[in-house]
Amino acid sequence: MKKITDLQGSFELHNGVQMPYFGLGVYQSEDGREVINAVKAALNHGYRHIDTAAIYHNEEGVGTGIRESNVDRKDVFLTSKVWNNDQGYDATLKAFDASLDRLGTDYLDLYLVHWPKGEISKDTWKALERLYQEKRVRAIGVSNFLQHHLEDLLTSAEIVPMVNQMEFHPYLVQQDLIDFCNSKGIQYEAWSPLMQGNIFDLDIMKDLASKYNKTIAQIVLRWDLQKGVVTIPKSSKEKRIIANSDLFDFELSEEDVQLLDGLEKGKRFGPDPDNFAF
Ligand code: NAD
Repeated sequence: MKKITDLQGSFELHNGVQMPYFGLGVYQSEDGREVINAVKAALNHGYRHIDTAAIYHNEEGVGTGIRESNVDRKDVFLTSKVWNNDQGYDATLKAFDASLDRLGTDYLDLYLVHWPKGEISKDTWKALERLYQEKRVRAIGVSNFLQHHLEDLLTSAEIVPMVNQMEFHPYLVQQDLIDFCNSKGIQYEAWSPLMQGNIFDLDIMKDLASKYNKTIAQIVLRWDLQKGVVTIPKSSKEKRIIANSDLFDFELSEEDVQLLDGLEKGKRFGPDPDNFAF
C-alpha cells in the first residue's frame, strides 16, 4: 500500500511530480459563486487539488476561487482537460491557451485528454507532449482510456501518460486496467467515486459506515486511497466538502478492502469509453 498521511499527502507520478491524492471535483458546479465558494472552501480547509475541464464551463470560477482562497497558486494541483471537439494538434494547443486564460493562470499541473477519440487522439497527445516539453504543464495524462486505447496511444507516444482518470467505484473496479496502468507507471485516478450519489443507497456501505463509525463517503473514499487511486469527489456544499475529506484517522482492514473490491459488476453511471456519441 502506498503511504497515506493526511489531506495534503500525495502520490508520485512517473516524472517525479507529486499529485495530491485527494481533490475536489467540480463537474456540475455552476460557474460563478457556486464553484468559487466550493473551491475556496476546499482550499481553505486543506485540499490542495482541484479537478475541472473545459466542458464544465466553470474554469473562470475555479480560477477566481483559487485567487480568493488563502492558498498560493503554486501550492494547488490544478487539472483541466481538452474537450472532444478541440482534439487534434493545433486545436488542442489553442484549447490549452483558452483554458489558461479562463483560469487566469500561466501553467497547469495536469492536462488530460478527456476522452479517447480514435486516431486524432494521437495528434492531441503530440500537442500535450509539446506543452509538457515547453514546461507549460507539469504532467500530462488521459481520461477514459481502456487498455486497448492506451496500447494504441503508446504505439506513437514519446511520453507515457502520467495519469489515467477513469470512472471508479465499487461497482466498476476494473482491477485489470488498474494493474495494467500500474505496470506502465500510469497513476490511476477515480471519477464519480461516490457513484454520482448512488453509493449512499448501498446496504453494505451502511454496514461499513457503522462498523467504522465513519460516513459512507469517508469509507468509499478511504478505499480509493488504500487502493492507491487518486480521488476527486464532487460537492459544492462546504459541510460535505469538509466531511468528505475527514478520512485520515482510520484504516479499512484488508478484508474490507477486498469486500468492496468484490462488489464489481462492471456497472457504469457515466458513458462507456467504447460507446459514446459526443
Ligand atoms: P461523485 O461520485 O463525486 O458524486 C457527486 C454527487 O455526490 C453530487 O451529487 C454530490 O452532491 C453528492 N455528494 C458528495 N458528497 C456527499 C455527501 N457527503 N453526502 C451526500 N451526497 C454527497 O460524482 P462526479 O461529480 O461525477 O465525479 C467527481 C468528479 O470527477 C467530477 O466533479 C469531475 O471533476 C470528475 N469527472 C470526470 C469525468 C471524466 O470523464 N474525466 C467524468 C465525470 C466526473
